[in-house]
Amino acid sequence: MANQLIKHFGDLEVLKGVSLDVPEGTVTSIIGASGSGKSTLLRCMNLLERPDQGELAIADEAIRFDRNPQGDIIGLDRRQLQRLRAKVTMVFQQFNLWPHLTVLGNVIEAPMRVKKLSRKRATALGEHYLERVGMADRRDAYPAFLSGGQQQRVAIARALAMEPRLLLFDEPTSALDPERVNEVLGVIRGLADEGRTMLLVTHEMHFAREVSDQLVYLDQGQIACSGTPEDVFADPRCRQFMAPAA
Ligand code: ATP
Ligand code: MG
Repeated sequence: MANQLIKHFGDLEVLKGVSLDVPEGTVTSIIGASGSGKSTLLRCMNLLERPDQGELAIADEAIRFDRNPQGDIIGLDRRQLQRLRAKVTMVFQQFNLWPHLTVLGNVIEAPMRVKKLSRKRATALGEHYLERVGMADRRDAYPAFLSGGQQQRVAIARALAMEPRLLLFDEPTSALDPERVNEVLGVIRGLADEGRTMLLVTHEMHFAREVSDQLVYLDQGQIACSGTPEDVFADPRCRQFMAPAA
């Protein structure tokens, strides 16, 4: 899925050759210290950031990143980039809903714009996924009138409405009041039970351990440890990373 991804910001090498497989229908959680490259890895997976080198393969779409002999990054096929972006959607820590659009407007925007669905079809899809996250009755509200937990559930519906092959979550509960965390974790747990393919960055260790098929510990841009939760917690070398948070 990701093969030997390398990403620099100026002189700083943030991803140092990260390879990660998220098999269809499974959940992988990434943990690691602040600045270890977790968000950058997720952002590279849906090309919000462009990897300098390496490969990405999502469903039947594969892209190779490289430099030409002059050292310039080789240009990407725009259509391929759009196809890949439509297959990988992301839920952010700060929700990032469009404030000028209603709940439903937020959810149907990308299916209409990117997938060229009619408003009618996008609305049917949007209503379905708002129902799924328990927000159908607020479809005409604007984000400012919703709690953080409600906004995040709408953001999840928006990500689902693209019917992606891979769902990314970047610390989806970190910006929430404690009493709102469980309503969002509950939705994510439901998606895991449905067999959605998901890659999740989280500090909620108990949750990660419970829903994940694979745990990955990222340390300074490299995978220091990975495996099933059972394996990772049984391995003394891995446990030193996991145990303090668990
Ligand atoms: P956190 O747990 O705090 O969210 P993280 O593991 O998600 O951390 P990243 O946000 O991926 O870490 O950042 C990794 C490193 O890359 C950090 O040193 C950060 O300052 C740097 N970085 C991230 N984005 C940029 C950018 N757009 N330009 C320059 N440096 C960046
Ligand atoms: Mg981050």
